Amino acid sequence: MKIFNTLTRRLDEFKPIEDGKVSMYVCGPTVYNLIHIGNARPMIIFDTFRRYMTYKGFDVNYVSNFTDVDDKIIKAANEEGVDSKEISERYIKECKKDMEGLNVMPATTHPKATEEIDGMIEMIQTLIDKGHAYVADDGTVYYRTTSFPEYGKLSHKNIEDLEGGHRDIKVTGSEGKEDMLDFVLWKPKKEGEPFWDSPWCEGRPGWHIECSVMSKKYLGDTIDIHAGGEDLIFPHHENEIAQSEAANGVPFAHYWMHNAFLNIDNKKMSKSLGNFFTVRDISEKYDLQVLRFFMLSAHYRSPLNFSGELMESAKAGLARIRNCVSDLDFKVSNAGEGELSGEEKETLKKVSALKSKFDDAMEDDLNTADAISVIFEIVKLANTETCAESSKAFITEIRETVLELAGVLGLTVTQEKEILDSDIEALIEERQQARKNKDFARADEIRDELLKKGIVLKDTREGVKWERA
Ligand code: AMP
Ligand code: ZN
Repeated sequence: MKIFNTLTRRLDEFKPIEDGKVSMYVCGPTVYNLIHIGNARPMIIFDTFRRYMTYKGFDVNYVSNFTDVDDKIIKAANEEGVDSKEISERYIKECKKDMEGLNVMPATTHPKATEEIDGMIEMIQTLIDKGHAYVADDGTVYYRTTSFPEYGKLSHKNIEDLEGGHRDIKVTGSEGKEDMLDFVLWKPKKEGEPFWDSPWCEGRPGWHIECSVMSKKYLGDTIDIHAGGEDLIFPHHENEIAQSEAANGVPFAHYWMHNAFLNIDNKKMSKSLGNFFTVRDISEKYDLQVLRFFMLSAHYRSPLNFSGELMESAKAGLARIRNCVSDLDFKVSNAGEGELSGEEKETLKKVSALKSKFDDAMEDDLNTADAISVIFEIVKLANTETCAESSKAFITEIRETVLELAGVLGLTVTQEKEILDSDIEALIEERQQARKNKDFARADEIRDELLKKGIVLKDTREGVKWERA
């Protein structure tokens, strides 16, 4: 697998730290509002990366945080006159709903900043002890950027440039910083803000420290991949490297992946510019799978301009795959059990070659646009090479391949048939029977099977009741 690594600025061959395993950290959203579709881009991209690596047999440990303490959250809480926890919990829940709609798998761990304060205090103390951080008169703790000679290595910026050539002008006075580039690790509380006790003052952490701490806690001092949108390269990821490498004394992440922006009228979609659509807005007009398809139809490092036309073409593209699958479903139900014909075997060889071509596209720095084209090639074969006389084995093999590859991209292309009430009753009856026979394994299996279809069972005194979730 070749990955464009922001750190080296080239396509690097992916070599995991541990054979067969991938440890990855993806910076998650600040939860003060519904997420917009720009926020959804990294979620979809890196979820697809995770799915592909899992498909290739890797065990992926995927960590993505929720930033639940921040100025914007506090502002939203004050405006509503509620606790900031109420705001963050509400929008974490909403974000998870959107993720589910987008078919973004829940992370292995979704840590929250407010639950990791002790770890942050510990790392900040280590940085102070090692001379990489200092405490100002008001209790603010700053990172001493001049103590980390490699500062700027990710963004490929020269420290002198970063400071606009004013390196020699030390910033003193009210902010209490030694240097313009120094950034906050801990800041004193203000009226009406959440705060925690610390050795320096009652206050709260700066933004960057949370990711260094959560990444270390859940994945270790050195991880394979760290990812996020390209706006995070500087200062967020640069600062994370400075904190983690100074505190831990080892490289922080081997590969840094960054997605380009989702734009609207060629401008970055953002809350502050007000030029955004939330995922929820889009869900009113489209199946969110269309949004996922739209995001994957461009390379993740290319800017992508959101437009109604592109969404319509994504809708048509997804429908092409779905129609093919339902056509195969129909054909398979009428197909004979016979052996594969010589011609069918030849076609399956082509399908298998296309499957490798799909992998080649994904191995090439996650070229999902090319991967989708390969699925279209298989769809074309399916449409032209299957007919009423085709064998069941032949149709099934093509169908399974389309489903498998679409699944790697997180696209659901089967028309899930709604389970009928009569089927539910029959399964409940079977479950009762299984329980009577003390076959609890089968009874549980039936309950889980129904749950997957959104049917919840309740054991009551009057018997088993069920409802659709
Ligand atoms: P935030 O909540 O602003 O910290 O953003 C959460 C994630 O969304 C980060 O990885 C950002 O880089 C990413 N992001 C925000 N806006 C966009 C956009 N317009 N296009 C692509 N990624 C974005
Ligand atoms: Zn982060």
